[in-house]
Amino acid sequence: MRIVFLGAPGSGKGTQAEKLMTKYDVPHISTGDLLRAAVADGTELGKKAKTAMDAGELVSDDIVIGMIRERLKDDDAQKGFILDGFPRSHAQAAALDEMLAQEARPLEKAVHLAVDNDEIMSRLMARKRADDNEETIRHRLKVYEDQTHPVINYYAAQAKLATVTGIGNMDEIFGRIEQAIGV
Ligand code: AMP
Repeated sequence: MRIVFLGAPGSGKGTQAEKLMTKYDVPHISTGDLLRAAVADGTELGKKAKTAMDAGELVSDDIVIGMIRERLKDDDAQKGFILDGFPRSHAQAAALDEMLAQEARPLEKAVHLAVDNDEIMSRLMARKRADDNEETIRHRLKVYEDQTHPVINYYAAQAKLATVTGIGNMDEIFGRIEQAIGV
């Protein structure tokens, strides 16, 4: 299984990626989690990333692409991966394609979890993570619209896009995803 999850912050990507990992034993790789771990460890990378994260901006493409390049070399990722929160820009999507092409293991599907803005806003307001205050949330949604939403078209053009409605019961959504990726 080699898939990416696309969708606004709060669309349920992380939750559904965890469920896929548990059922199919393929690693769930979240750039948000990797970055938060780097911030908590106080690494150089973490220090560089923190300002952008706190402001709801994207961390630079170089940093996240490098992180993913390294993570995909790990043993557990040889059997596949579920990427969550990456790619978030056209440059990241193109870099991912290039690294996978070098290994002759192309991406299979990009699953877009579609959730409308009002629902996203109320979910994020209820989540209360450090970067989840109202102003930052609005900014993160704008960044998503401007920079990440175009990635959906990138995968549509490759005929790899599967759009799944991300509203409803968690298990129902999971069933839709399984159907969309053909497992
Ligand atoms: P997330 O947990 O996926 O919502 O990510 C939290 C924050 O980490 C985002 O608001 C960004 O600042 C940063 N981040 C995570 N993934 C990426 C990425 N692929 N590109 C740039 N920044 C990212």
